[in-house]
Amino acid sequence: MRVLLVEDEQLIADAIKAFLERHEYRVDWVEDGLLAKDALRTGEFDLAILDLGLPGQDGLEFLKAVRGDKADVPILILSARETTKNRIDGLNLGADDYLTKPFDMDELLARCRALVRRSAGRTRMLLEYEGLVLDLDQKKASYDGNDVVLQPLAFRLLTILLERRGRVVSKSDLMEKLYGWEENAESNVLEVYVSQIRRKTTPKLIRTIRGVGYIVDEDFSS
Ligand code: CA
Repeated sequence: MRVLLVEDEQLIADAIKAFLERHEYRVDWVEDGLLAKDALRTGEFDLAILDLGLPGQDGLEFLKAVRGDKADVPILILSARETTKNRIDGLNLGADDYLTKPFDMDELLARCRALVRRSAGRTRMLLEYEGLVLDLDQKKASYDGNDVVLQPLAFRLLTILLERRGRVVSKSDLMEKLYGWEENAESNVLEVYVSQIRRKTTPKLIRTIRGVGYIVDEDFSS
């Protein structure tokens, strides 16, 4: 685990660095916001610990700049500015957690671990196939780079077919996965969703196997 520590007080920085390094973290320490920005741009960090009162560039300014360009690295604010407003500002600007000085080292460690864990789980789940991209977290679809707006069940249906591509999925399987055991769905609902998907992407994407179900072919473009 590699941590970027942004802290201008050497005593505090030394203490944090020594403590985290005893717990298998590699810590890179910088003293101001401008250096921190360069470090984040060039290095691969699992986490950043950020003081707010900094020379050069203030921590909140730094946050604004960092979240403005890229860096989805988790950021923990560690600051003596303990007003609620500061916390809210920090979190609004994209910090993931906030710990007030003075703090307990074990609590800092626990929060670092939680943040790293959380961000590992945040990795985007994407399903990609022939120009079609399904973002399973955001429930968004695009085709050839254009957003495709699908009803939630149509999105789900497409996900199921893509996950099983090359195999025919029967209508009863699809109905069960979309509706569970409820019997109240209209019998033509699958056709409705399939035609919605075809209309908004390409007619060739989903093939009907008459009387059986649907398939996304391994290579539908041929
Ligand atoms: Ca400071």
